[in-house]
Amino acid sequence: MSEPLVIVGNGMAAARLVDELSKTSLGRYAVAVIGDEPRLAYNRVLLSSVLAGETASHDIELKPAAWWRDRGVTVKYGSLASEIDVGRRELKIAGEESIEFSRLVLATGSMPLRLNVPGADLLGVHTFRDTRDVDILLALAARRKPVVVIGGGLLGLEAAYGLAKAGTPVTLLHLMDRLMERQLDAPAAALLKSLVERKGIKVLLNANTARIHGDRKVEGVELADGRMIEASAVVFAAGIRPNTALAKDAGLSVNRGVVVDDHLRTSADNIFALGECAEHRGICYGLVEPAYEQASVLARHLASRDVAYQGSVVATNLKVSGVSVFSAGDFMGSDGSESILLSDVRRGTYKKLVIADGKLTGAVLIGDTADALWYLEMIRGRKGVAAIRREMMFGRSLALAPKAA
Ligand SMILES: Cc1cc2nc3c(=O)[nH]c(=O)nc-3n(C[C@H](O)[C@H](O)[C@H](O)COP(=O)(O)OP(=O)(O)OC[C@H]3O[C@@H](n4cnc5c(N)ncnc54)[C@H](O)[C@@H]3O)c2cc1C
Repeated sequence: MSEPLVIVGNGMAAARLVDELSKTSLGRYAVAVIGDEPRLAYNRVLLSSVLAGETASHDIELKPAAWWRDRGVTVKYGSLASEIDVGRRELKIAGEESIEFSRLVLATGSMPLRLNVPGADLLGVHTFRDTRDVDILLALAARRKPVVVIGGGLLGLEAAYGLAKAGTPVTLLHLMDRLMERQLDAPAAALLKSLVERKGIKVLLNANTARIHGDRKVEGVELADGRMIEASAVVFAAGIRPNTALAKDAGLSVNRGVVVDDHLRTSADNIFALGECAEHRGICYGLVEPAYEQASVLARHLASRDVAYQGSVVATNLKVSGVSVFSAGDFMGSDGSESILLSDVRRGTYKKLVIADGKLTGAVLIGDTADALWYLEMIRGRKGVAAIRREMMFGRSLALAPKAA
């Protein structure tokens, strides 16, 4: 008889895990997926494109209903898992009967952070995480009244772009002295700022939000230095926090995320975690690629194969049309590393390759990102680059062209 394997969360990590399980251990497990969002798993990454009007919401579903049915997977959406009984191996679902499991996988993702400032609970304060948020932001965009987006990372920039594209006056506030500081060095961030400003987004750096003004509804944002910005709405895009409450309440080891080992095992027997809710070797990833790598490892582990997850080399692409940005690996460079730079601000191009011990260890590309995947493969492959060092800055085709004798 198949063992009951229950996955909590019906997001990107869960969908990939089911896909991988159907390849590695078809029939061994009776899989049930419990998700609180009111629809089948969708590509969350594409929410930015939905907001920008470049993709339709119904086109972002990861797999059609028939795909889940054909694999014998029970999908309960609109269902909130409320408690894990570790001893009895039961999962409680709000308003429904508990279900038993022999293995449980937590794939609960993250929630958006709301800044703890006065006014954060006013009407008109929003986040950008799921399709419901996007529906609200689209309605907001249609009103074309001024909006403040808080957070100059990937998410904030994409929210600001989507709103600005619809004709909304947008001010983007960022606490740090440069945009996307976790992915870009100072020159790249300065170039990015000028490129997004050309899209009609007003960017304020070193902007520390002190309070959101309004009676019942948002009327403006006040910064710590006293500056006031008019706003009819605020979008928080200032970070995420892993959804760990279920694990914590069940007594599992939790730091920032649910702590997992190299086999994605939590501190409780037969309970696993992956994706944004998991913390591996002290890292909670906020990107989808690590979740997919974890899904592949976990599926093989659940199929009794000997495999371990060693961590991920992360890469980021900004999805703002006409503003290509790519960053991967050790983009700042560390002690003993060297950087090769190419900067043409006027043409909107910046390239930085970081080399350490004769290997490519990081890259930042603005403007021309055609060779991003090639650089990423080299960073992940950790192969020596001595033979192509002179040409690699100018792209794959030049670097790999046969050399004249
Ligand atoms: C607008 C946007 C753009 C993004 N762009 C990129 C990008 O360009 N590149 C990139 O790598 N990443 C991007 N990300 C991040 C990426 O979407 C996430 O890394 C990815 O979705 C993580 O997958 P996950 O399955 O761990 O979490 P999620 O996809 O969030 O899925 C978790 C699911 O679990 C559900 N859940 C939580 N608790 C419970 C419970 N108790 N019971 C039932 N269900 C529960 C949640 O509602 C959610 O549906 C973006 C995210 C957003 C919001």
